[in-house]
This record gives sequence, C-alpha cells and structure tokens, in this order.
Amino acid sequence: MLAVFDIGGTKIRAAGSAAPGQFGPATDMRTPREDLAGFIAALAGSIATMGPGVRGIAISIAGCVDPVSGRMKVANIPCLDGRIPAEDLGTALGLPVWIGNDADCFALAEAAEGAGRGHRTVFGVILGTGVGGGLVIDGRLVTGAGGFAGEWGHGPVQDRAPLGHALPRFACGCGQEGCLDAIGGARGIERLHRDLHGQALPAEAITTGWQAGDAASSETVAVWLEVMAGPLAMVLNVVGATSVPVGGGLARVPGLVAALDAAVSARRLWQAPGSVVVPAALPGDPGLVGAAHAGWQALVPC
Ligand SMILES: [Zn+2]
Repeated sequence: MLAVFDIGGTKIRAAGSAAPGQFGPATDMRTPREDLAGFIAALAGSIATMGPGVRGIAISIAGCVDPVSGRMKVANIPCLDGRIPAEDLGTALGLPVWIGNDADCFALAEAAEGAGRGHRTVFGVILGTGVGGGLVIDGRLVTGAGGFAGEWGHGPVQDRAPLGHALPRFACGCGQEGCLDAIGGARGIERLHRDLHGQALPAEAITTGWQAGDAASSETVAVWLEVMAGPLAMVLNVVGATSVPVGGGLARVPGLVAALDAAVSARRLWQAPGSVVVPAALPGDPGLVGAAHAGWQALVPC
C-alpha cells in the first residue's frame, strides 16, 4: 500500500493505493500552510486511517522539487518552501517519500491511463490559471535540470505583434517578460483581451463569447491561438511527442483544444494522421493517479 496525496494551497486529497491505478476512498482536508509540524501531523493522521502495510508516500504538489538536492520551491505552502520534504516527512513518518510537481503528475497520469495511453512520448499541457507541462518518455517522467523539464510556459517567446496587433510582453511571475505563462492561461487570456479591447472580462466570458461568435472575443482567441501554437509546435518538434493531453480550466472549453491542435498542426514538422493536441481523458484526480504511478515506480522496486 502507498499513501498518496495531492497537495494544493487550500486542500489536501489523500487515498491509499494498493497497486498502480487502484485506489481506496479519497478524503479531503485543509492544508496546514504555515506550520510544518501541523502539516506532518495531518499526513500522519491520514496514513493512520489507511491501515497497516503502508510502504511509502507519494505526493503531487503545486511546486517544483530539485531532483538532485530534493529541495522544494512552493509559493503557496510557506512551511514547505525551501525545505527538503522527502527528508522532513520521511524522517518524521518513517517511510520513503516520492514527491513531484502537479503538472508532471498530470502528464504521467494521462500517459499511463488517459489520452496518452499507448504513446511512447507524451507531453502533458496544463492551461489553468497559467501554463504548465510535463514530459513522459516510455512511461517515466523526465524531470531534468532543477526539476524544470516540461515547463514550456517560461522564457520570453511571446510574439510582439500577433496578427498585426502590437502587444506588450507581459510581465511574468518568474521575473521575465514575454512568457507564455503570462498570456496563455486563464489570467493571460484575460490580460490579452483587456489589452486588445479595453474590456476586463473573466476568461469564461471571453471563451463563451468566442463560441457565440462575438467579434471582440473571437479576435482575442485568434490572437491567443497565434501566440500559443508556435511555441507548442516547437516543443513537439524537439521532444517528438505523439500525444499532447491538455488539462486545466481552458481545456474544458468545447472546441478550444481542437482549435489549438489545428493551429499547432499547421506549424509542426510531423504531419500526424489525426489529432495530437487533445483534451485530457482521465476522469478523477490526475494528481493522485500520477503520483501513485511515480511512487510505485520509485519506491517499490519490482
Ligand atoms: Zn515566466
């Protein structure tokens, strides 16, 4: 049995996993954000309810773990930021710990059980509040230098004048300007719409307007596709992925992922026989599923 946790800034979801892809009932609890002892106690209490035989802990978290040092960067859970959770939790709980980034866990979950099943190289994309990604080759996560592999949302690549619209390179949380993370997620499409049309609308209103044929929203989405498709086509040329499952809030907008697939297809070298950029297919919690697969691979040698 593995104890598996999907840890976000507000809640922790926990479930026991008896085998990869198999889970007991999931439970939710509030995340102790400021208090490491309270955080460890919350996990210990949850593990105690899973019964005897827990052999390790697998965690998906909205942060980045350096694969060499094990040190974590996590903005929204201050008690873990800068710590080495595998040591803190492993020592306190007496169990081996695997911990990974939530976009990586999403990519692994989709590669193992979702839209990427059967593909050797899968690039999972998150279009949530920002832009994330994860790379899976032959069923294993590629974490890379600093744990940043798959982070295609950062690095100044934004087109200054997509479809003839002069746009500023928006400032990004990573300290650079012109990152996809600042223009490609839900907050980014809102920023883009405000810059193009002077209207402060939520992302949902913009995508609904696009579906309804509203001129301003349609222009925003056309520019957004132009900005996103080139960098994603380049990622696919580099890594050779044959499947790109897309998750996050924007992936649930009917037709938007298909439009992105068409735009990427027009720019990619490999002409696939069908869709490559597709909506994520796994029902349930990809954080739990991906962390469990990684945990079973890393902690329980076969
Ligand atoms: Zn950035």
